[in-house]
Amino acid sequence: MIEKIKKLASDLENKTINYRKDLHRFPEPRWREFRTASIAIKKMQELGYTITMGSDALSKEYMMSVPDESTLKNAQINAVNHGADKELVDKMTGGFTAFWADMKFSDDNIFLALRFDMDSNIVTESSDEAHIPFKEGYSSCNKNAMHACGHDGHVSIGLTVAEIIANIKDNLKGSIRFIFQPAEEGSCGALPMVYAGACNNITHILGLHIGFQAENSNTLVCGTDGFLASTKLNVSFTGKPSHAGAYPEDGNNALLAACNACLNMYAISRNSKGPTRINVGVLNSGDARNIIPANAHLELETRGLTTELNEYMESHVKRIVEASALMHDCTFNIEKHGSSMSGFSNKEMVDIIKESVKHIDEYTNIIENKSFGAGEDFTCMLYAVQQNGGIGSYIQAGIDKYAPHHNDKFNFNNESLRPAVLACAITAYNILKK
Ligand SMILES: [Zn+2]
Ligand SMILES: [Zn+2]
Repeated sequence: MIEKIKKLASDLENKTINYRKDLHRFPEPRWREFRTASIAIKKMQELGYTITMGSDALSKEYMMSVPDESTLKNAQINAVNHGADKELVDKMTGGFTAFWADMKFSDDNIFLALRFDMDSNIVTESSDEAHIPFKEGYSSCNKNAMHACGHDGHVSIGLTVAEIIANIKDNLKGSIRFIFQPAEEGSCGALPMVYAGACNNITHILGLHIGFQAENSNTLVCGTDGFLASTKLNVSFTGKPSHAGAYPEDGNNALLAACNACLNMYAISRNSKGPTRINVGVLNSGDARNIIPANAHLELETRGLTTELNEYMESHVKRIVEASALMHDCTFNIEKHGSSMSGFSNKEMVDIIKESVKHIDEYTNIIENKSFGAGEDFTCMLYAVQQNGGIGSYIQAGIDKYAPHHNDKFNFNNESLRPAVLACAITAYNILKK
């Protein structure tokens, strides 16, 4: 059967690469994955999977950082103009772009979930002649959006694994679920899916990222620990505008409050219990050079090796914001826009993966376990499954990278997709085989 799976992956390789090129052309950031989801849903339906989508796949109450109505509407129109199914896109109105697709093989209690994220980054793609997607004509058509993390690859891998599984279904038992998640960037997509039931009754869960600590095409990491817990926060300061020459003393300077907050956030003490991070990625303030700035807006994130370390960072940020507002007689508001927790892979699952990937010739460097060094809200799903007595792991599948993740020149060799497909498909087979 392993040989059959390998042959299927080879036969489907061109299709996998074509999915990737197509998805790369039309990247969609968080809660706007209308075209991506519509294409994936249609494909999964054709393969015989049962779809759960729209408001059935997301708990609205837990959806954070959803764009305003007109942004969503424009993204829906754009998606349909670029070939998305209008009826499906209509069902996703409001940003309900998540779905999962199930196939049942037998009444056995074993239920494997594979999770793939679909969203792009908010980056403008490079138009450097050396950037292969640009040179070959499949770089982003969507303004200020780019697949700079490789999630276009993830969806392509997911659809191909689903096709292989549908082809070998008579040899399998239990059930399988393909979870297609929106809004991973910003860590806001997994939690509302968990609350909608994405992980109910799941006994095994597998997540995957291409690249990261698997630094070349020959490397595969079977299990990942060291996910950084993370919180995404938007902070606003409100002061009072005034004439900067005539009555500066009448103004309350929100820009200074924001700057003070920003510098002091970077001065939060390191913690002896483990690594922490902070990044203020956006600071907007002011209206004109001769007016005391009355508004400031910051977008930032905290991270920590454990959930506790991240909470340490978050609580200091809140205190610094409060104190900075007080210093400059401003008011403040803090909004949470996403969060993820730390997590670990189960040894039992890592062993199954290790056994499975040794059949894949490309992976000459198989690593049992490695830290992720970044956040991933897959941990919300992993935790949900583990809390119910299930097991899970997160694979890092090697690619040859042309630039770091999230860079405007990020790209990878399309030939690395087939081995990643095999890693998922053979692992799924080994878990579900009769
Ligand atoms: Zn990313
Ligand atoms: Zn990513």
